[in-house]
Amino acid sequence: MNNQLALIREALETRLNAINDPLTGKGLFTSGRISGLETRADGKVSFTLEAPAEHVERYVALRDRAEAEARSVKGVSAVTAVLTAHEGKQEKTGGISRVRHVIAVASAKGGVGKSTVAVNLACAFASLGMSTGLLDLDVYGPSAPTLLGVAGRKPKMNPNKTLTPLPAHGLATMSVGYLVDASQPMVWRGAMATSAVRQMLDDVAWGDLDVLVLDLPPGTGDVQLTLVQRTPLAGAVIVSTPQEMALADVRRGIAMFEKTHAPILGVIENMAYFETPDGARTHIFGEGGARRTAEAAGVPFLGEIPIDVDLRKASDAGAPLVSALPDHAVSQCFRNMAQTALANVARMSKPAPRISVT
Ligand code: ADP
Repeated sequence: MNNQLALIREALETRLNAINDPLTGKGLFTSGRISGLETRADGKVSFTLEAPAEHVERYVALRDRAEAEARSVKGVSAVTAVLTAHEGKQEKTGGISRVRHVIAVASAKGGVGKSTVAVNLACAFASLGMSTGLLDLDVYGPSAPTLLGVAGRKPKMNPNKTLTPLPAHGLATMSVGYLVDASQPMVWRGAMATSAVRQMLDDVAWGDLDVLVLDLPPGTGDVQLTLVQRTPLAGAVIVSTPQEMALADVRRGIAMFEKTHAPILGVIENMAYFETPDGARTHIFGEGGARRTAEAAGVPFLGEIPIDVDLRKASDAGAPLVSALPDHAVSQCFRNMAQTALANVARMSKPAPRISVT
C-alpha cells in the first residue's frame, strides 16, 4: 500500500512539474511553487500553490490546471488545490552564486594575524575597484566586529529570511560575531560550527561581488576541511609567522587545500621583521622561512608584512589600516599582495592544457 502511495506521489510530482511556472520558466515543483503535497490512503490529494501576491491572477488558471492534472493520475480519487498569495514575498536571493571569486584566508594556528590579514586584504581588493565582501567564519573567536568597528550592530533580517551584510569600510561584511552575543560562551563546535557557517554562506544576501574573502577558523582539522570542501573556492591564502614551528603548520595548510583541489594563491609571512625609525630591520622570528617553505612546496609567496605599531593600533581602533591610512607603507604591502593574489586567481583558474596520447 505504501508502495502504491509512493508511486502516486511520484506520478503527481512528474505531472505537476510538467506545468511551467510563468515567472521562472521551470516546472512548478522545481520552482518551489508547490508545497504541502499530501496523498491519503483513500486517494485524496491536497497541495498548495504558492504565488507572489503581485502575480496572483496569473496563477488562478494554473491552479485549475494543476488540479486537473493531479486528478488524472491513476489512483487519485479527489484533489484539493489551494492558491495562496505571498504578500511581499521576494524570491530568495541569498548565497554566493553571484560572487565571482571566493578567496579563503587560512592559518594553521591562532594569533598569527590571519584576521588582520583577511580584513586588510579585503580592503585592498576594494581599493583596487572590486566590489568586495568579508565573511568572518572564525566561529571560535570572531574578530570582524572589533577589527571593523561594528561591534554591537546587527545585520538586517529580510522578509525572505536572508540577512543583509553589514556595510563597513567599503566592504559587505558578515560574521558569526554579529549574531552571537560576545559575552556568551562560544559553544559552537564541529558540526554546529559547520551548519552555522553553511547559513552564513547560503542565507546572506551577498549579491553581486567580485571577491568574497573568507576568514577561516584557525587550524587544519575537520571543521576547516569541511568548510573548504563545501565552498567553491577560487583559491586560498595561507598566513604564517616566520618561526620554524609555524612553517611545519604551513605545510599542513597546503596539504589541506591540496585535498580539496583549491589552488594556493600564496603564502603571506606576517610579523616578518620589525623596522626601527632609522630603517634598521630586525628579524625577530627568523628570516625568509615562509618564502623558502612556499618555494619548497611549489606554491607562490605573496609577500611579507612587518610587525607594525600602526597596523596593530588601526585594528584595535576598528578601522583597518588599508582604509584608514591608504598611503602607509604597510597598506601598500597589502595592495601589492592583493594584486598578486588576483593575478594568481586568473592564472590558476585557466583550464589545464589537455594532453592527448595517441
Ligand atoms: P589571528 O586571526 O591569526 O588569531 P589576529 O589577526 O587577531 O590573529 O592578530 C592577533 C594580534 O596581533 C592582534 O592584536 C593584531 O592586531 C596583532 N597583529 C597581527 N599582525 C600584526 C602585525 N603585522 N603587526 C603588529 N600587530 C599585528
